[in-house]
Amino acid sequence: MNEQFARLAVNIGANVQKGGTLVLSAPVECAGFARLIAEAAYEAGAREVVTRWSDDAMARLKYLKADGAVFDEFPRWMKVMYDEFAGKKAALLTIHATDPELLKDADPDRITRWGKASGTALKPFFDKQMANEFAWCIVSMPTPSWARRVFPGLDGEAAVDALWNAIEKATRLEGDAVANWREHLAVMERRAAGLTDYNFKKIRYLNGLGTDLTVELPDNHKWIACGEKTKDGVPFVANMPSEEIFTLPKKDGVNGVLYSSMPLSLNGNIVDGMRFTFKDGRIVDAQAEKGLEYLRNELNIDEGARYLGEAALVPHNSPISNLGILFYNTLFDENASCHFAFGKAYPCFRDAETAGGEVMKARGMNDSLTHTDFMVGTADLSIVGTTQDGREIPVFVNGNFAE
Ligand code: ZN
Ligand code: ZN
Repeated sequence: MNEQFARLAVNIGANVQKGGTLVLSAPVECAGFARLIAEAAYEAGAREVVTRWSDDAMARLKYLKADGAVFDEFPRWMKVMYDEFAGKKAALLTIHATDPELLKDADPDRITRWGKASGTALKPFFDKQMANEFAWCIVSMPTPSWARRVFPGLDGEAAVDALWNAIEKATRLEGDAVANWREHLAVMERRAAGLTDYNFKKIRYLNGLGTDLTVELPDNHKWIACGEKTKDGVPFVANMPSEEIFTLPKKDGVNGVLYSSMPLSLNGNIVDGMRFTFKDGRIVDAQAEKGLEYLRNELNIDEGARYLGEAALVPHNSPISNLGILFYNTLFDENASCHFAFGKAYPCFRDAETAGGEVMKARGMNDSLTHTDFMVGTADLSIVGTTQDGREIPVFVNGNFAE
């Protein structure tokens, strides 16, 4: 199964090209799977696989013990390295499997400062990534600390097995994974094109949690499914799994109240029970039952963090949601639920290739050092779209697509 997963990640996810470079970021605990990915990449004709190892335990030690000043200093060599990866259009494949509460007792100020230092230094790199200048893909595999968190009732190996099982179902790996994904991508693309055709002026979210939010959409916006293309025309899938169809809100066109529906692992800490109040796009009030400090720190990273950068639709009746498992890993949880992100927006425009940054900004594309997804979908969520000529079209009824 792992070999098949590795091939899927390489050939459909990052879509490694003959003669291309693959940059693979992997936790040391996932070394076995990382090697399978490297093998699959060379099989696909990769020129070189560059591996970037990470280790939760070392990262945690650094936050707890290192000299405070290092959290303001992003090493220049590391910035050069990332800019060089982007420059040569290397494909990026990341295995994301961090302990959701890795930085539980770390100084929140250190977390914020490092977020700011790294985000600022790597901004040109992230700008290129979000503009699809190179292919990128994120996948996950279980690590013991993450599995224990998801299945607290199971011990060590049983928890890891259970998490593997869930990932296999969520990532559509059962049977012929490549065929599953080709079919899935085709369905998602049809749906996204249908939404783009409506050319909604705004969409309104309502549910029993108390959400009542109106989101204006920018001129020429486009709904995008998980299958994307680089500027050079290489198709790739940025997230595996992916069940979402997303676009960008008009920066100053969001008004109302929005409740989160699932906890969120944010920079190694859990934030839960969030409530946001929006006025002309800006988050003027943010509350949380748990982890409010971490949420507020992220919202204060810059002015753009206080505005939305993504609106994503995920039916309540979908493979991940139906597993009924809280993964504490945004890659999975955001694909079980409608979500938004505050912070930087993806250029989801019909003419994104030609419009240019200033035009897209003027239409309402947000920019920030952060892009933080949070889940808002519920079984009773309704979304109504309003077209440019004032017609109201049900988009979501009882948590699922209306048509
Ligand atoms: Zn999303
Ligand atoms: Zn996102």
